[in-house]
Amino acid sequence: SKGDIHAQLVVLGAGPGGYSAAFRAADLGLEVVLIEKYATLGGVCLNVGCIPSKALLHTAKVIDDAEHMAAHGVTFGKAKIDLDKIRDYKDNVVGQLTKGLAGMAKMRKVKVVQGVAQFASDKSLEVTADDGKKQTVSFDNCIIAAGSRVVQLPFLPEDDRIMDSTGALKLEDVPKRMLVLGGGIIGLEMATVYRALGAKIDIVEMADQLVPAADKDLMKVYQKFVSKQYDNIMLQTSVTKVEAKKDGLHVTFEGKNAPEKTQKYDRILSAVGRRPNGDLLAADKAGVNVDERGFIAVDKQMRTNVPHIYAIGDLVGQPMLAHKAVHEAHVAAEVIAGKKHFFEPLCIPSVAYTDPEIAWVGVTEKEAKEKGMDVEVGTFPWAASGRAIGVGRQEGFSKTIYDKKTGRIVGGGIVGVNAGELIAEVALAIEMGCDAEDLALTIHPHPTLSESIGFSAEVLEGTCTDLP
Ligand code: FAD
Repeated sequence: SKGDIHAQLVVLGAGPGGYSAAFRAADLGLEVVLIEKYATLGGVCLNVGCIPSKALLHTAKVIDDAEHMAAHGVTFGKAKIDLDKIRDYKDNVVGQLTKGLAGMAKMRKVKVVQGVAQFASDKSLEVTADDGKKQTVSFDNCIIAAGSRVVQLPFLPEDDRIMDSTGALKLEDVPKRMLVLGGGIIGLEMATVYRALGAKIDIVEMADQLVPAADKDLMKVYQKFVSKQYDNIMLQTSVTKVEAKKDGLHVTFEGKNAPEKTQKYDRILSAVGRRPNGDLLAADKAGVNVDERGFIAVDKQMRTNVPHIYAIGDLVGQPMLAHKAVHEAHVAAEVIAGKKHFFEPLCIPSVAYTDPEIAWVGVTEKEAKEKGMDVEVGTFPWAASGRAIGVGRQEGFSKTIYDKKTGRIVGGGIVGVNAGELIAEVALAIEMGCDAEDLALTIHPHPTLSESIGFSAEVLEGTCTDLP
């Protein structure tokens, strides 16, 4: 045995939630142990999620932009793809960040323990290292930040050609023909990468639109733009059977847009969602309630039903996003350090880093309708934006959503290049309680895409009547 450890705070899992909590707590003077089963810190987001996917999406964007430039009178040669170098670049990005985290942990004297942790009691965890050695880590307080894992479809056969997002990020090859199973954010982002690198791609999605959480008007613009890039986007369709044969993966479809015949693919990317890891922690030994899906319920201070055990990140609920995990982490760490802090954001932005990007924040129009809210929507088409036209990308639009009674902004959505960067202004407006006039009267720099947000507020009836 390696000997037992005790800490004022133990953080279980070193993803964006876990490392943010550990660092904040250490900065506030607590003695912290951070337990992680993998050799590197950073969790899903840094190692096999947000960061490597965005590095590859940048590569895809440059390839696409080079092609778009033909319309501007500049033609580049056909892109030469060196897959090994692309992979190396991405791995270097990840390596730089995970190394940085290790350095930050050291600087703060956060003790990192490598191994798989499970609760032994409400005051201790048992940690099993790779070599099978076990040690006990006891704590005064614990923050569970064990994240989530990929949902596996039971009918998919075991086959190397069937990948999840982690497999897709390994970029082993560029398949000739690939099926993306699931038209959510992760599926579409990886489709963007593989398509730019030369794969022919079909996408199948059960819902009646891609990215079902986003408003339909945003997704319509997206789908129209990408419809020529993908062979077949099958909405309201599902896969019923996959047979792995020597000559390829034979897929049978069912539903509204199902092809009549079985289709053959070289690879399948399964991207149908993620499930929380709450069920893998022996949480019952600590008395922590885990629901049947694996989520752990928490209060506004991120406390579970056991008062000195907190939980944050993907395993406490939707949206499963890194920036949500980080903010929850800070609340949990500060509460444990004796501060009075609550997690009660008015909104959490969502972004699909596709081309074009899709971003939304706060209440969507769909949700407003479901909730019976009386809202007014201001929309500004980028076809009227000098900047969008100048860069040759006028397909997008920006919209902002207001509560009719209070005039306050409650939501917004953008589809177009850089939508992910632009949506931050709308998030700030919601948190600050802005009304339409505040946004419209804020002078945005010209010519920028950000103007489209101010303009969207201007088109609302009854606002800014003094403007031309
Ligand atoms: P995780 O990052 O899942 O970290 C949990 C950690 O706990 C892991 O390192 C795991 O090894 C460890 N762990 C689990 N159980 C144990 C145990 N028993 N013992 C020891 N260690 C354990 N989000 C965004 O906001 N923006 C994006 O662009 C984005 N892109 C994504 C792209 C992909 C392909 C994927 C898969 C996800 C993406 N996400 C994105 C989601 C984001 O990665 C997650 O929301 C985020 O990582 C959640 O952080 P977390 O701290 O809750 O958990």
